[in-house]
Amino acid sequence: MAWFHKGDQGGSESKGDRTFTFWLKVGESRKILFLEDIGTDSIGFWEHALTVDGDWQNKRRITCTMGSAPCLVCEQHFTAQGKDGKTESKKFGRYHVNVVTVMDMTPYTSKSGTTHSCTKKEIPMKHEVFEMLTGKSKIRRDNGFPAGLKGWLVNTTRISKKRGTQEVSYSVGNDFEPIRNLLGDPALDMAKEGLVDAQGNPVDLNPIDYVKVHAPPSREELVTLFANHEITDGNLFSGAARRGTEETAKTSDSTGINY
Ligand SMILES: [Zn+2]
Repeated sequence: MAWFHKGDQGGSESKGDRTFTFWLKVGESRKILFLEDIGTDSIGFWEHALTVDGDWQNKRRITCTMGSAPCLVCEQHFTAQGKDGKTESKKFGRYHVNVVTVMDMTPYTSKSGTTHSCTKKEIPMKHEVFEMLTGKSKIRRDNGFPAGLKGWLVNTTRISKKRGTQEVSYSVGNDFEPIRNLLGDPALDMAKEGLVDAQGNPVDLNPIDYVKVHAPPSREELVTLFANHEITDGNLFSGAARRGTEETAKTSDSTGINY
């Protein structure tokens, strides 16, 4: 049995193949271009999110192999403060995601000073977001676009909403405004649309090679990681963790549901 499957069956990247994960701050809007559709063919798998040496902005996503092979992360424990303030030993959580590739159309300047007009990113979707986007895809298909969301330029905004006493928002955004079917345009001008790399060449519009970039690290690699670093549970979907300060991140873990 493989560690991934297609569709929402409820169910790491390799060195040098790190993917960018798409997420928004609360209140933020971005234009994204869907490079594939979402639905029963979407790749899904279980994963862990690890915080390495307290760097909560840079979580390490590790594919969980439990069910097909022993998973070293599932066997580990970390120490954390419990509700009563006492230190306790905890197991790492794991969660199921389906994934989709988008082009983030917000220009970005790397540390080396190179400006990129767009960046290929992955959206990891928990069940609720997967269902929402599958619904958006169906609307496109019902309206004469058989490729669903593929090729659509969409404006997405993250709006925080109250659910009972809790603030709820999707890190991918919850207000989706389709702009136009960009890749379906036979007169598409890649340069004009900003779909070029730093050298002005058209960018690769293929989805991320998930099987390659999420291949579980070797047991040896994980043993080394755990032996040499302080590893705690990264809680990837804690949106406030990406909002600004470590303080809000800590607060969110106990009060907010974020996807
Ligand atoms: Zn695991």
